[in-house]
Amino acid sequence: MDFSLTEDQISMRSEVIRFARRELNDDVVARDAANEFSLKGWRRCAKMGIQGLPFPREYGGSGADLVTLAVVMQALGYACADHGLLFAIAAQMVSVQMPLAQFGTEEQKARYLQPMCSGERIGAFCLSEPGSGSDAFGLSTTATRNGDCYVLNGSKTFITNAPVADVFLVFATTDKGAGFMGITAFLVEKGSAGLMVGKPIGKLGLRTSPMSEVFLHECVVPAANRLGRVGMGQRLFTASMQWERTLILAFGIGAMERQIEACVAYARERKQFGQPIGGFQAVANRIVDMQVRFETSRLLLYHAAWLLQQGRLSDMEAAMTKLYVSESCLQSSLDAIQVHGGYGYTTECQVERSLRDAVGGRLYSGTSEIQRNTIARSLGL
Ligand SMILES: Cc1cc2nc3c(=O)[nH]c(=O)nc-3n(C[C@H](O)[C@H](O)[C@H](O)COP(=O)(O)OP(=O)(O)OC[C@H]3O[C@@H](n4cnc5c(N)ncnc54)[C@H](O)[C@@H]3O)c2cc1C
Repeated sequence: MDFSLTEDQISMRSEVIRFARRELNDDVVARDAANEFSLKGWRRCAKMGIQGLPFPREYGGSGADLVTLAVVMQALGYACADHGLLFAIAAQMVSVQMPLAQFGTEEQKARYLQPMCSGERIGAFCLSEPGSGSDAFGLSTTATRNGDCYVLNGSKTFITNAPVADVFLVFATTDKGAGFMGITAFLVEKGSAGLMVGKPIGKLGLRTSPMSEVFLHECVVPAANRLGRVGMGQRLFTASMQWERTLILAFGIGAMERQIEACVAYARERKQFGQPIGGFQAVANRIVDMQVRFETSRLLLYHAAWLLQQGRLSDMEAAMTKLYVSESCLQSSLDAIQVHGGYGYTTECQVERSLRDAVGGRLYSGTSEIQRNTIARSLGL
């Protein structure tokens, strides 16, 4: 068993860290306060090859393996302070580009995947509805066949990227009686008659990642824009959830790494009772626990990414990775604030933003409770 990174992965990590520090960190505090998405940052990442990294070269990608993708997303999370931007990019990659790459026709890949790799088009994944969140397949949006088209009716909520999206991957039921076997996915273009994007939704964290509701009223979609076969929505969702639960929080592991470095530096420098606070075991042990959580998260991420690459990842492994990494990101942010004392609570210190950003990790891509349900089921409970 060889756990070392390759020469290419090490040099890519350094290059990405330099890029993020140089090009992605302008005005993050102000943009977070103003809920402002950075299209400039999105395009810079695309130019750097981030959005295309794991996708085939013929669609503008680099064909990198998933461990390399994990290493690169972690490096971005370490060096880029705009985690809303990284979340928005990761969400598109794992939940829109990935199903397109796996289930799309050649025409769909040329029309949608390629411009997403190059950063010209932005995609949004539309599954959640006001009445169905954790019970994702309890959705009520319908798609009715009409000649060469489908007519979609319903509404979606909490849709990341919706305010800036060009393409919406919408899940709808084509056969109510068939339950989850009757769910089908469609690619709906911005500007389609009957498609309406709601006002941006304000959030606790990840404020630079735009989110809104999406409404479909007699929205006509060409049958050629159906992604996969009729009734294949559940299969498509399960495949993208494996990517999502494994990789969506890789940037958060980078944040843990940065927090540990900041805590060590602060604990060595800050003196109370005539000595550096790092000399108090209570403070040192808190940072030790942060380090153990970071290392465990990293191992889970790399292992799950490696299994996913081989087509051997189980639902339990994906759920364990999502659960452990998201809870660890949150705990690490709380610990980093505690180590910095009152200063940690200020906006200037910037750990408070990491804490707000990390709370979302327990909710999106299935809540922590839903991940535990999956693990329990896999254990035969
Ligand atoms: C930052 C962010 C980005 C998002 N982006 C998208 C997106 O791009 N596209 C999209 O489609 N959705 C998106 N979502 C929605 C997300 O997938 C849902 O919020 C999530 O699935 C939970 O659904 P819900 O909010 O309806 O909560 P509910 O399902 O109503 O759950 C409420 C509470 O009950 C618990 N609960 C529910 N069922 C069970 C159960 N069986 N066992 C134990 N506990 C249970 C939950 O864990 C939770 O604590 C996003 C959410 C967030 C926070």
